[in-house]
Amino acid sequence: MKILVINSGSSSIKYQLFEMDKKAALTTGLVERIGLDGSRIKHKIFRNGDAAEVIKEIPIKNHQQGLERVAELLMDSEVGVIESPAEIAAVGHRTVHGGERFNSTTIITDEVVAKMRELIPLAPLHNPANLEGIEVARQIFPQATQVAVFDTAFHQTMPAAAYRYAIPNNYYTEHGIRAYGFHGTSHLFVSKAAAEYLGKPVADTNVITAHLGNGCSITAIRGGRSVDTSMGFSPLPGLMMGTRSGDIDPAIIYYLGTKLGMPLADIDKLLNKQSGLLGVSGNSDLRDIEARQASGDAEAQLALDMYTYRIKKYIGAYVAVLGRVDALVFTAGVGENSPYVRQHSCAGLENMGIKLDAAKNRSDSRALREISTADSPVKVLVVPTNEELEIANQTLAAITQN
Ligand code: ADP
Repeated sequence: MKILVINSGSSSIKYQLFEMDKKAALTTGLVERIGLDGSRIKHKIFRNGDAAEVIKEIPIKNHQQGLERVAELLMDSEVGVIESPAEIAAVGHRTVHGGERFNSTTIITDEVVAKMRELIPLAPLHNPANLEGIEVARQIFPQATQVAVFDTAFHQTMPAAAYRYAIPNNYYTEHGIRAYGFHGTSHLFVSKAAAEYLGKPVADTNVITAHLGNGCSITAIRGGRSVDTSMGFSPLPGLMMGTRSGDIDPAIIYYLGTKLGMPLADIDKLLNKQSGLLGVSGNSDLRDIEARQASGDAEAQLALDMYTYRIKKYIGAYVAVLGRVDALVFTAGVGENSPYVRQHSCAGLENMGIKLDAAKNRSDSRALREISTADSPVKVLVVPTNEELEIANQTLAAITQN
């Protein structure tokens, strides 16, 4: 059975086609610069252990055209992997915001689309692009069941004490202002993999998962259920990120508006696109910052100090939330690849039972691996995330249950 996973953004569509019998990706690709100059499709196919990539530089006016070209590539005589769109049993859509309405993976109907439209004010940038992807996939793959996998759904198990903000109740009851949390698919995937590695039932396993990519979030998971997470009403709070500030005093926003006369749109841009690692060091890519730090650059050093200090603070907070922690998991681009960040985020946490093994931490293995000392009460793991596979698995589960 084949499942197509789609992540539709405002000017891009990422896709991956899975053969579910083997849990293997047959193709992966990216349509980029939709509606802009220089639009193109990067399409990669995996055959017999080899990968080959084709790049098509073609005008792509909108998402409809983009997905039509993808369907053609999937059926292409040279780089294709299917003969007819009907071979695709289901399309799993990565969907950013499900609000409180969607707490699990959901088969898409007209009613579901209507409810998702009602949620647009909560995610004005992401949900319209996700809906666009859903609308065109329904036209191009009409035989396939369309399934929505929400980034927020995994965190719907948080208790009110964790998700409510201490502002008057009506802002929650009338306007839905609460913490929702994001990156749920990744936190779920790596926490399940960690429990499996530990050989424990998910229901008995407590894990802290640190997803450190361009966006960063950290989650406390008790018995397979998210009980707290660092992102909130939006993906802005919590850890310091590539270009997002993470936690700041909200009074700064008021100050920027009143004292500096900054329009709200500029403040939004400042905190989401010009802050974080970029704002402090001038680079958003951690590799560049690590290279500068190694040659003694003070701004790069400060950015790394702030970045790892914030992670450490959240780990400490989530040890307190969980009481007992079986594993601390690092994942995503930085979490999987930066020994420096892992080392400095865990330094000084030995009394909390977190003891890193310096040599294991430096290993350049790409696989799931343990990087704590043999006597560390909390296992520290590096678990490569695979959000697309998790979306495909959840899509499969949704269509086989119905
Ligand atoms: P996204 O959130 O866009 O999916 P990724 O999970 O790919 O992001 O993570 C991107 C981040 O990972 C970038 O800051 C990049 O510098 C960092 N990264 C990737 N490889 C390495 C590496 N070898 N060492 C340090 N950082 C890395």
